[in-house]
Amino acid sequence: SLKILEKMEKLLEEKGIREDVKVIKTGCFGLCAAGPIVIVYPEGAFYAHVKIEDVEKIVNDHIIGGNIVKELLYKEALTEEGEIKPFEEVPFYKKQMRIALKNCGAIGAEDIEDYLENDGYKALEKVLKSMSREEVIDTVKRSGLRGRGGGGFPTGLKWEFTYKAQGDQKYVACNADEGDPGAFMDRSILEGDPHAVIEAMAIAGYAVGANKGYVYVRAEYPVAVNRLQIAIDQAKERGYLGKNIFGTDFEFDVEIRLGAGAFVCGEETALINSIEGKRGMPRPRPPFPAQKGIWNKPTLLNNVETYANIPKIILNGAEWFANIGTEKSKGTKVFALGGKVENTGLVEIPMGTTLREIIFEIGGGIPNGKKFKAVQTGGPSGGCITEDYLDTPIDYDSLTALGSMMGSGGMIVMDEDNCMVDIAKFFLEFTVEESCGKCPPCRIGTKRMLEILERITEGKGEKEDIERLEKLAENIKSSALCGLGQTAPNPVLSTLKYFRHEYEAHVNEKR
Ligand code: SF4
Repeated sequence: SLKILEKMEKLLEEKGIREDVKVIKTGCFGLCAAGPIVIVYPEGAFYAHVKIEDVEKIVNDHIIGGNIVKELLYKEALTEEGEIKPFEEVPFYKKQMRIALKNCGAIGAEDIEDYLENDGYKALEKVLKSMSREEVIDTVKRSGLRGRGGGGFPTGLKWEFTYKAQGDQKYVACNADEGDPGAFMDRSILEGDPHAVIEAMAIAGYAVGANKGYVYVRAEYPVAVNRLQIAIDQAKERGYLGKNIFGTDFEFDVEIRLGAGAFVCGEETALINSIEGKRGMPRPRPPFPAQKGIWNKPTLLNNVETYANIPKIILNGAEWFANIGTEKSKGTKVFALGGKVENTGLVEIPMGTTLREIIFEIGGGIPNGKKFKAVQTGGPSGGCITEDYLDTPIDYDSLTALGSMMGSGGMIVMDEDNCMVDIAKFFLEFTVEESCGKCPPCRIGTKRMLEILERITEGKGEKEDIERLEKLAENIKSSALCGLGQTAPNPVLSTLKYFRHEYEAHVNEKR
């Protein structure tokens, strides 16, 4: 994409029209399977799989000649009559509703002017000039927004707890330590719309009474880190961070803290330890971060996607947001759709959309005429869901009832060729590697589970191993200290529930 951008700018320069064409380097459009993507406005021509050698044609024929290069258009961006479909009519986008991803792929992520032209910092202005702190918290509560990082805790309540907590100093933190294999929602938001997160953190700071924010982001996300830093610098320069924001006495500052690659640092108390410069290990709760967080001060911690919803809720109202989704899960959810599916990419759907709609309508189904087998939601903490449940409307509670979980939004599709025991082993290998070692059920128990799984997949397993595995999984689930260990057995338990015959086949093969 960067090479295409470079070539585009060079050609426009050579043709003497560089100043007439605004070239925007955006974040992710969502449709990763069709990348690199170039969209030319005002027509909204959606060019997909663009190669370096195609750039000349787009510049000469379309930008200069005014003729759309139809053979380079995304195959589903044309009507049967050969006309360009509006962006939102392309099947991949048709059932989506972009709130958290609204600006991703649409604005220049390194340009504060683009953000300002799209209502940027208007929500912050609104709360500072016309809303009390209690009104802001009440709005977030009434919206029904729940934490998008996995737990699904009501966001407004968290804000209220931190607001009510006593402390001479309070902090606001953003969890951008997205580490699930196959998940890239938060990275894309930070790369595509970093100001939205900064603005939301400032709103949260005003609401709970904090003047300092930390974004804890993985060092493995260099583009996100870079764009976030650019955005922080721009916001400071323009007075959206710092002292006397919008002429009020509200003061707020944001700093980046880099994670060093430990999955467990996505757990809120481990993240707090890491921000303090300590080893990233979870602390027992209570006390919860709202009472004792960073340096034992009341701390509000939300993830990137949760924050990205806040400015829109403030501007459009709690009722607008609460009208989207299901009774108990409001708004939209971003999923990273991957694995054996045609349209891999980032999708944002209203809660209540079914898995079938996501995989077969938005995702375009399973490639190469293969049969769908299962979908893993929630990454290493989640579980697999089979064809029988594809029509379940997605929300926090329905996925948990199926033995999986919403998680942060990883969604990996499996076809008939995947061995479900191997899938369970893959996720368990990941959690064994990432266990921080603080508590024995997780440190030792998951390792023993992995040994049993290895025996089974190598054809050396006993029939009793399956029961042993199940018992151990249940014990770890109920006794590990933090979410990592408590959810680590989920992939094994859910594959045992729905695909026990595959475990038995491995054991019987031996005989
Ligand atoms: Fe560490 Fe695992 Fe225990 Fe969590 S459950 S504290 S990751 S050993």
